[in-house]
Amino acid sequence: AVRVRFPPSPTGYLHIGGARTALLNWLFARKHGGKLVLRIEDTDAERSTQASIDGILDGLTWLGLDWDEGPYFQTQFKADHARAAERLLESGKAYKCFCTRETLEAKREQALANKQAVGYDGTCRHLSASEVAAREADGLPSVIRFKVPERTGKIGYDDRVLGRIERAYADIEDFVIVRSNGEPLYLLCNVVDDIRDRISHVIRGQDHMTNTVRQLLLYEALGARPPVFAHMPLTLDLKKRKISKRHHGEVVSVQFYRERGFLPWALCNFLVLLGWNPGTDQEIFSREELIQAFTLERIGRVNSVFNYRAGDPKFFTDPKLIAINETYLRSTAIETIGNLVKPELESAGLWHEDYAGARREWYLETLDLIRDRFHTLKDFATLGRAYFADDYAIDEKPLKKNLLKHPELKIWLPQLADRFAALDAFTLATTEQATRAFAEELGVKPGVLINGMRTVLTGQLAGPGMFDILMALGRETVVRRLSSVDR
Ligand code: GLU
Repeated sequence: AVRVRFPPSPTGYLHIGGARTALLNWLFARKHGGKLVLRIEDTDAERSTQASIDGILDGLTWLGLDWDEGPYFQTQFKADHARAAERLLESGKAYKCFCTRETLEAKREQALANKQAVGYDGTCRHLSASEVAAREADGLPSVIRFKVPERTGKIGYDDRVLGRIERAYADIEDFVIVRSNGEPLYLLCNVVDDIRDRISHVIRGQDHMTNTVRQLLLYEALGARPPVFAHMPLTLDLKKRKISKRHHGEVVSVQFYRERGFLPWALCNFLVLLGWNPGTDQEIFSREELIQAFTLERIGRVNSVFNYRAGDPKFFTDPKLIAINETYLRSTAIETIGNLVKPELESAGLWHEDYAGARREWYLETLDLIRDRFHTLKDFATLGRAYFADDYAIDEKPLKKNLLKHPELKIWLPQLADRFAALDAFTLATTEQATRAFAEELGVKPGVLINGMRTVLTGQLAGPGMFDILMALGRETVVRRLSSVDR
């Protein structure tokens, strides 16, 4: 059975790299009817925080990436880790190393200077039991190192993305598995937990490949069958730097996109393409389509680029992400959009209880009318403010282009308002007819009146068809706003 895991270290917010890892594991689990285990790797007590744990769980939930087991916390299983280290020691597959940091540093520098291999030289590897006992009696601190088998040849595995990966045993140094303070390290804990959680596939970044060969040795030493490994490419910025919290700050956090009105599945759809491709031109996938289409073999081999340009407000994130978000904004069922926009209106003080009741139809029709040009959910409360309140601003551009260019509009628009007020019926046809007739009397192009109206009624240069806007706003609001243009 397929059992995969997402094991974040809770040392910061959930970033797009982590979210992509979670997504790919989730897709693989869903595709094969398997289980996704969420395991918080919180053994580094100094760097782990509750805020980070909360943020990770919250972010995954918002993205819609549900897990089947957990969250487990690595610290709950300290006894397992200690027992495994003990077993390795007892069976002679690991040993205590008393070399001091200073000694190791000095040897390293020497090796560098002589252009020799810098790995651990194995000084403590062959200490006898009595030599170890003597050092312990002297109170010397020790770490536990894994004893890499003395073999010629290579250790290898078949990576589901990259194919055969091999590494010479001779190139792997005896690595530390337990610190001198008794804390087991990631390499060991992670394997012990994956064995206990019966993980079948490890899907993680290529940055873990050096860990993988060492962990394979641990599986063997612990008598367990290793999982299948699939390593994903890294995500780089335009300068080819690995995307990281440290270098890129909040623009790479999932929360950043949530706060800026991105749809959770739009972000997932974008993220999957940063490391996987369907082998066709298709870019937009529903959840079900993506689960269907997803295979480990189509994970990319080369690093992908998160095309974000720091400091450019127009490209505050990858343009492709914005484009995908726009696509979902237009194609998602309007009821769903209505629910997503509600909190946006609420936090802008624009929400009306009626929008969930008597005026639901108006609310949804209006969202449907205005969503065509929007980029994010935020736009409903900002660019779309005039549909929900009277206190919207008039943008600089339409002001200059229309009202200031044609000062007569300050007389004409109130006159047009009077004509609208006097209409028997206020419909698309009657308002359009009244507008065109008035323009003709004035000897101006209808566009002058229409653009002027748009400016006054919505504050925006562009938007839906003008007469649709009139219908959405309703006669009373239209007349009031056009009459008070000079106020
Ligand atoms: N806690 C590790 C990380 O966040 C897990 C790596 C792994 O998948 O083994 O990088």
